[in-house]
Amino acid sequence: MAKAYVNKFINFSNVDGPGNRFAIFLQGCNYKCTYCHNPETINMCINCLKCIDICQNNALKYDSFNNVIVYDENKCIDCSLCVKACMHTSDPRVKIYDIESIMNKIEKLKPFISGVTISGGECTLQNDFIYELGLKLKNIDLSLYLDSNGSFDFSKDDKLIHVCDKVMLDVKSFSDEEHIKLTKKSNEIVLKNLDYLLKSDKLYEVRTVIVSNYLNNHYNVDNISKIINNHNPNLRYKLIKYRPLGVLKNKLNLKTPNDDTMNELKNLALSNGLKNVIIT
Ligand code: SF4
Ligand code: SF4
Repeated sequence: MAKAYVNKFINFSNVDGPGNRFAIFLQGCNYKCTYCHNPETINMCINCLKCIDICQNNALKYDSFNNVIVYDENKCIDCSLCVKACMHTSDPRVKIYDIESIMNKIEKLKPFISGVTISGGECTLQNDFIYELGLKLKNIDLSLYLDSNGSFDFSKDDKLIHVCDKVMLDVKSFSDEEHIKLTKKSNEIVLKNLDYLLKSDKLYEVRTVIVSNYLNNHYNVDNISKIINNHNPNLRYKLIKYRPLGVLKNKLNLKTPNDDTMNELKNLALSNGLKNVIIT
């Protein structure tokens, strides 16, 4: 039975897909985005133990026999001091769950949710878990949405496409050079996924983060919106305003775009034919 490294659950989310959704945030990401808002989800814990004594509530203990950190959520007051102390962009509160225990949570919430969304980190790094959970969800008529940075080639995995209803895809930059500057990885597979998921009608939305003094926003929005428009002008294109909240070190002094900039970019996407462009 597949297991998942889970950073957190949100029982009722209305920002991770349509309706009220149970959201699972998996640990681990293969990008290192300059503007990452959840840097504690990037790496797996290496058990350096530096965060243990930071916790004043005894919510963290070291199990030397199994060489793991044991997290007691009943003692945790969610102060995040342990996360701030971690120099490894990890989180001692990550827990391993099997499918059965996650399905137990979902079944209790079923009357109140319209589906499940798996986010991260980057969820496609734990595909075995996604396959199994997706099949179980189909048996109880709940939809499965994936929130992905687009680094995994969806066209090469029929099993994944079969179990997931829709994907929320980040297209962070249209320029490969800029994408590497931002994430440390090429955008080649991301753009391939954009094309493939549009043609397969598997996209719920496409998202691009706008950063005033760091990215060529006009070039990105212009090109991405043209590609979306060629396949589905009604698909939602979400333009996300960069905000420094949660960013580990804003060493590059990234700037939040003003409303005029966001509206100009929205109008650009609309002028390329898109019907559903939103700013958040
Ligand atoms: S977030 Fe929880 S585990 Fe971390 S330091 Fe605070 S109380 Fe302790
Ligand atoms: S969460 Fe970070 S600080 Fe704590 S043990 Fe793991 S790697 Fe070390």
